Amino acid sequence: MTQSPWQLAARAETMNPSAIREILKITERPGILNFAGGLPSPETFPVDAMRAACAAVLAEGSAVARPSLQYAASEGLPELRQWVAAELGRQGARVVPEQVLITNGSQQGLDLVAKVLLDAGSRVLVETPTYLGALQAFTPMQPRFDSVDSDDGGVTASGLREQLQKGERPRFVYLLPNFQNPSGRTQDEARRQQVIAVCREHALPMVEDNPYGELWYDQPPPAPLLARWPEGVIYLGSFSKILAPGLRLGYVVAPPSLYPKLLQAKQAADLHTAGFNQRVVAEVIRDGFLDRHVPTIRARYKTQRDAMLAALAHHLDGLGAVWTQPAGGMFIWVRLPEGLNAQTLLPAAVEAGMAFVPGAPFFAGQSDVRTLRLSFVTSTPAQIERGMAALASVVRAAMSGTGSGSGA
Ligand code: PMP
Repeated sequence: MTQSPWQLAARAETMNPSAIREILKITERPGILNFAGGLPSPETFPVDAMRAACAAVLAEGSAVARPSLQYAASEGLPELRQWVAAELGRQGARVVPEQVLITNGSQQGLDLVAKVLLDAGSRVLVETPTYLGALQAFTPMQPRFDSVDSDDGGVTASGLREQLQKGERPRFVYLLPNFQNPSGRTQDEARRQQVIAVCREHALPMVEDNPYGELWYDQPPPAPLLARWPEGVIYLGSFSKILAPGLRLGYVVAPPSLYPKLLQAKQAADLHTAGFNQRVVAEVIRDGFLDRHVPTIRARYKTQRDAMLAALAHHLDGLGAVWTQPAGGMFIWVRLPEGLNAQTLLPAAVEAGMAFVPGAPFFAGQSDVRTLRLSFVTSTPAQIERGMAALASVVRAAMSGTGSGSGA
């Protein structure tokens, strides 16, 4: 056998399979009550509106010019860029369409930001815990992650200050102010003001990732960070949770000074986001469709969130576990009683008929092995009730030493 002629780049050596994808393999047993996934509910996908929009878009043009099937501008479709600017304007941020770059999901936005802003060894500040997909997107640029002390309201001002006193100036802090993945937590108004004050004082730019902001169940979240420091914030948004993730449509809003570099990185990556998908979405949302559609998603997910909070309170009461009370989004974050380990508890949970995601991969620094993430959006209230009962049974068994999952 000859030796492989391929030599990997150092950055490829840093790439890892998503820890979650590996974990999800054991949760994919038929019949399992699956709270591990991060998928929106397919019942919210607007199939009829999409079908009509596809037909309308395909009917556009002629043999001379078929814009939906032709190469398109790297910046994105003007109608969508205008929609994003107007939408953020409603939330108090002054954005012009020229600042909007349409991307292949907000995940591509994370990749472009990393390429444009990170060198090997650059410091990046992240929340504790943080979105695993962002760690994956940033890692190939070989930065150094520092986990900022965080509580139920996200990063704390003192945690930020502490990190800013250490070492080299970070390139940016990556923040998820609304209904965070994985924890479900939200930065309240006071916390946003404190965080902005520290970042402005130290000229620390922010990458604000907001795919869940529209999924609020009690009241809309406070204005985005972008509205408070326009030149210091790169904002990422997505159509994945309000229309459908398979469209792969997201966007980056960047200060004018940075926009050209992100655009060049986008051009190099894929020339442009699928023009057909952009035109279909522009057609779907043209007449205010989202103002009617998104409230139906909110109503559905709110019922499921309430069912999960009620079931957790009922079944885990008195066991010493704690969990978040998300005001929106898709996830609840549970911390198991002392001495338990979510990763080692998972096989017993799957055996008992339910699955969750252990929390450890969501930490850039020291992991909290007692944590786990539950998604409430793809199960019915009856399934949620049964699933939480099953979770409680394996927690009880582990605590009494009759099941796996004990040990730090
Ligand atoms: N950011 C966060 C916090 C997410 O949870 C996700 C999706 N799981 C993304 C970004 C990427 O979403 P998309 O690429 O579908 O817009």
